[in-house]
Amino acid sequence: MTYDPGNIFAKIIRGEIPPKKIYEDDKVLAFHDISPKKKVHALIIPKGPYVDATVFGESAKEDEIVALVRAVPKVAEALGIKESGYRLITNIGAHGHQEVPHLHFHMLGGEPVGKMVE
Ligand code: 5GP
Repeated sequence: MTYDPGNIFAKIIRGEIPPKKIYEDDKVLAFHDISPKKKVHALIIPKGPYVDATVFGESAKEDEIVALVRAVPKVAEALGIKESGYRLITNIGAHGHQEVPHLHFHMLGGEPVGKMVE
């Protein structure tokens, strides 16, 4: 799928829509989900134009991949859920039920999140 620069997360990265920011560096942004599914529901995204984890894994630069993975514990720490645990999910494509076509990891926690797939 071609990257759509009009998607909502691209607008957030460009500063056109202000997120409830948790963490930011030059390659990564993390912010609260607008419609939280658990007490804590954050989204962690690369700033580069990647549709999903498949495209990211195939074409992102090493430093972008490192930055995204390294951001995970920083976001968990900032949210106070590093010790209690959390779930990290990324949805991909139609069967993955991905709604926003910009790679994002959901970080869910702050309470037990239940079985992985109901
Ligand atoms: P997906 O189904 O693509 O994995 O998840 C998309 C997520 O983006 C959903 O959890 C949805 O609530 C969240 N979302 C959609 N639009 C916005 C927005 O404008 N701001 C924020 N912070 N989250 C959004």
